[in-house]
Amino acid sequence: MLYQPPLPPQYQGLSIEALKLRVAERKRQLGSRLVILGHHYQEDDVIAFADFTGDSLKLSQLAAEQATCEFVVFCGVHFMAESADILTEDNVKVILPDLSAGCSMADMATLEQLEEAWEIVTGVTAARVIPITYVNSSADIKSFCGLHGGACCTSSNAARVLSWALDQGEKIMFLPDQHLGRNTAYAMGFPLDSMAVVDPNKPRLGLRDDGIRDARFFLWKGHCSVHTLFSPEQCDEIRRIDPEFRIIVHPECDWAVVQKADLSGSTEAIIRTVRQSPEGSKWAVGTEIHLVSRLAQEQAGKRVVRSLAGIQCLCTTMYRIDLPHLLYALDELAAGRVVNQVRVDDHTRRWSRVALQRMLSLPALRAAGS
Ligand code: SF4
Repeated sequence: MLYQPPLPPQYQGLSIEALKLRVAERKRQLGSRLVILGHHYQEDDVIAFADFTGDSLKLSQLAAEQATCEFVVFCGVHFMAESADILTEDNVKVILPDLSAGCSMADMATLEQLEEAWEIVTGVTAARVIPITYVNSSADIKSFCGLHGGACCTSSNAARVLSWALDQGEKIMFLPDQHLGRNTAYAMGFPLDSMAVVDPNKPRLGLRDDGIRDARFFLWKGHCSVHTLFSPEQCDEIRRIDPEFRIIVHPECDWAVVQKADLSGSTEAIIRTVRQSPEGSKWAVGTEIHLVSRLAQEQAGKRVVRSLAGIQCLCTTMYRIDLPHLLYALDELAAGRVVNQVRVDDHTRRWSRVALQRMLSLPALRAAGS
């Protein structure tokens, strides 16, 4: 996680109303020089200022389209801002209002660990292994995948990307989210025993050589700290309370939760499914609480939408992007100072772009992601 120095004192103690007025004023002032992108998991006060909202794939695609503005202020987490920098032209500067807004899942795979794991796995098996990384990963992991014949994927296109990868090679190294990898491969018809968990913190990844030779999928031992809070018991409880509830969860949830749910899908797919369901439908949703609350509010009076968990499942790092940090970034831009720019070096940028472009160029992927 990167260090974000404390904001100057003038940003502390401002009321929400004052912050909103000042952000709106800066936005007006910066005009077409500025585009604000907001991830669905952001809090409402921040989302209100986003020119575009979306999940990680949609926002990556939107970032790639921003050719005429000077600044993209990304209200999301660090890996998303990196993807935006990779996909935008050199003249567009990508700003993350709080540099400490990381992603615990992305932090679970480092390049050093991946290089070590790669050496072990490819040293044992003669089969061609294709590395696939979820977009929720650092730029250097994406770059590794691009350089080694692999690609990125999102939660909405993972099956399509895995199927492409299996045309390129015999085995897949999937990282950093073991759950998305397992849920996707299982839904494609692969048995659980064809998947081996790669634990970078164990000697020789916690795998025996015959286990490496037998596995079709190597699932990196990473997870999302938000989506792994959902449990199969919560599904049982919802059904006990009211059997009319349908359960829809994100594929970053544990396999057992996805098996208990009626449906699983990316953030965009969850929103679309609930919006399109008939009047009076009841939904229990297993994903980040800001999204669920907004969906419940939007669908008030038509459908019942509630979080699958009784507890607040919130992405605490995403939550760091608040109005004071947004205002600070915009104030600095208006004063001609670029702060918190996220920049990916040329080599990493080149190969991550290859991994991202391989994903984006697959047919039928120009649709919805995390
Ligand atoms: S919800 Fe999970 S995967 Fe998404 S940014 Fe937060 S920690 Fe990362």
